[in-house]
Amino acid sequence: MIEPVTDNRALVFDVQSFSIHDGPGIRTTVFFKGCPLNCMWCHNPESKKAKPELVYHQNLCVGCLLCVGVCESGAQLVLPDGTHAVNHGACTGCGKCIEVCCYGALDISGKTYSPEELCEKISGDKRYFNLEGGKNGERGGITFSGGEPLRYAGFIANFCALIPGVHTAMETSGYGSREDFEKIIDCIDIFLFDIKMINAVEHKKRCGVDNELIFRNLEFLYASKKKIVLRLPLIQGINDTEEQFDGVAELLRKYPEIERAEILPYHNFGIAKAESLGIEVSPELPRLNAGKETIEKWLGASRERGCANVYCA
Ligand code: SF4
Ligand code: SF4
Ligand code: SF4
Repeated sequence: MIEPVTDNRALVFDVQSFSIHDGPGIRTTVFFKGCPLNCMWCHNPESKKAKPELVYHQNLCVGCLLCVGVCESGAQLVLPDGTHAVNHGACTGCGKCIEVCCYGALDISGKTYSPEELCEKISGDKRYFNLEGGKNGERGGITFSGGEPLRYAGFIANFCALIPGVHTAMETSGYGSREDFEKIIDCIDIFLFDIKMINAVEHKKRCGVDNELIFRNLEFLYASKKKIVLRLPLIQGINDTEEQFDGVAELLRKYPEIERAEILPYHNFGIAKAESLGIEVSPELPRLNAGKETIEKWLGASRERGCANVYCA
């Protein structure tokens, strides 16, 4: 049964403690489920749909077929050759098959929380938020990530009211309504704002939506004097173009108070995750991670354009 999402319920697919890559210091990152974008390189494909989803780890399945007997939706299948398969499209997320699988081959991604339940979940982590840690010895806090956390703006505002004094960061695609940004603008200390593709046509093609709204929201946050770090996912052969580096350099010149930009080098974790969710992987996507040389080249391309404050995350 899928619970409706309200300002007092949010669907979360992961809560990671001791994170040092999602903002200053040592943090706890809450990953919300549901995203208006559909980036072809998404490293968290389980974050895209705003509903619980079945995860099937084929490598752990021994083919006992117990799951087939309990699934009333026909999502657990026996193929003509007697082997097991999953039809993700038919799954309702009821979770019955997980109870009978003794091999850990099945799981459900996505659990709903109230602000109070989430607060309870992270309560033990508060002990390290004020430690000096992370890459620059800064103090940590909570990071809202996803998916797109703006989808749960009302929930996040309610949650933040329960954790006064805790530093907050939001990793966002920037694709959200002004109304949603206004709901959270006073309770977020720093925005980690993605710039995925400068070229509007390519952005629509690779990420599924226009980038115009994203740039308008960046303008709004900057004008509101919020702390901003640009995040630059770079995928070799897809968006590491001259146009991309030129466009990012122009943004950094236009918005000189932006703290810095961080390159997020492509890694291929998303491919196996997509396969376990039954999501098709684009053949254009690199199978290998971005190597050290490639990352150096990207940093060099930024420096050549006068960007001293571009780093690798
Ligand atoms: S119950 Fe688990 S191990 Fe058995 S067929 Fe189903 S997924 Fe595979
Ligand atoms: S979660 Fe429910 S509907 Fe989905 S495969 Fe398992 S038993 Fe079938
Ligand atoms: S915005 Fe992030 S979470 Fe959403 S599809 Fe793109 S990479 Fe995935």
